[in-house]
Amino acid sequence: MSLANKYRPKNFDTLIGQEHITGILKAKIKSDKGGHSNYLLFGPRWTGKTSSARILAKAMNCLQLQDGNPCNECANCQTINEGKTLDYVEIDAASHTGVDNIREEILDKVAYPPTMLKKKIYVIDEVHMLSKWAFNALLKTIEEPKDTMAFILATTEVHKVPDTIVSRCQVFNFRKVPDSEMVSRLEDICKSENLAYDPAALGIIAKISEGCVRDAVKYIDQVSILGEVNEAHVTKFLGVASESGIKDFLGHIKNKDREQLFAAITTLVQQGVDLQNFAKQVLMYLDAHLFEDMDFLIYVSHAFTEILNNLRYYPYPAIAYKVVLHKYTGETAAVTVSAPVAAPVAPVVTPAPAAAPVTPPVSAPIASGNNDNTSLWEQVLSRIDRESLQKSLKDHSTVSKIEENTVFVTVINKFTQAALEKQENKAYIEWLLSQLLGKQTFIHVQFQNKDDFFWEGLI
Ligand SMILES: [Zn+2]
Repeated sequence: MSLANKYRPKNFDTLIGQEHITGILKAKIKSDKGGHSNYLLFGPRWTGKTSSARILAKAMNCLQLQDGNPCNECANCQTINEGKTLDYVEIDAASHTGVDNIREEILDKVAYPPTMLKKKIYVIDEVHMLSKWAFNALLKTIEEPKDTMAFILATTEVHKVPDTIVSRCQVFNFRKVPDSEMVSRLEDICKSENLAYDPAALGIIAKISEGCVRDAVKYIDQVSILGEVNEAHVTKFLGVASESGIKDFLGHIKNKDREQLFAAITTLVQQGVDLQNFAKQVLMYLDAHLFEDMDFLIYVSHAFTEILNNLRYYPYPAIAYKVVLHKYTGETAAVTVSAPVAAPVAPVVTPAPAAAPVTPPVSAPIASGNNDNTSLWEQVLSRIDRESLQKSLKDHSTVSKIEENTVFVTVINKFTQAALEKQENKAYIEWLLSQLLGKQTFIHVQFQNKDDFFWEGLI
């Protein structure tokens, strides 16, 4: 059996990083044996929503609950684990078959009581993808709760789920598993599998898995074929660079040492490092170390965003690196360059910062079709009192539309996207928008490839 299957969480206690949720769920299951609740689980991808839905379904049906956890041994738990009962249905609303299933399941079969389990459970993944029609059908069903049936809805985009549905569910917010918790989980697994490891290697695995425990465990499985799970094996097998490698690489850019820089690119290729992953690794590194050397790291982020965008046009990725980095290490590409020309009507709220702002040499300021949206976003940007955030958003973000209390922000830079999706930054921007608009406002961040963005503007 693969490690990923072996260590797939089977009860609430083995689901890591979501203790704020699992504690409540266990208490709830213990106190009223599941009640007649419907649940809505939301949060980023790969944070365990689907695993939790299955655990929850088992807990609601388990014949011998263990402190709120399903036992995984009784007939009900086993039949769900083995997928042998029609009383437990998982539907992916994002797929075409999902739409048909909803019609069949929700309209045609919901009236019948369960045949094997205590409760019929419907898990609808990516529920925000349902059509208006399907939401209405779902609403009619959950408006009249039955003891013999429960819905567990999961989504990455809770703001797209109608309020009428949300208000009839118990809502749980999943978070990304922090690297430190991921590493300690991986350590536990290595120990119980008797695998030799070094923590730095687990750190790299945690980073490139981006919060997805299942992927991380899969990588451990693969790397362990080479023997010890150490940095050399991880970088070799997964085609990623070590953190010291990234540091050296950035040093060459800073020194404008093209000879060393190009040699380092050649070395990465020889080591079998995937250059697309490397660019992402660098961007993650920048995010983690931003405040150590802010102007320079933001400057580098522009270079790597451009590299990522260019990679698809170059059959040989090393050339994309060399072309872009050649530009960024040229005589004219000073890290600190002259201030950008201010827009004629831009309100000046804050005094000019002492250090001249960085102008990304690559991207022109992005234009927007709608003047109201543009001026709203300009006002937001002018009020931001965090210089790094302001710089990151300027010229790389725009408001594409406003719908009720949601402002849709389009970004054309992966680094800007990461900055804006950071919880504290997001909350801060939402607070500024709420003040400006006089009502509680949320933002929805969407990334758009720069070329697509401009192309769309031309049509
Ligand atoms: Zn059980």
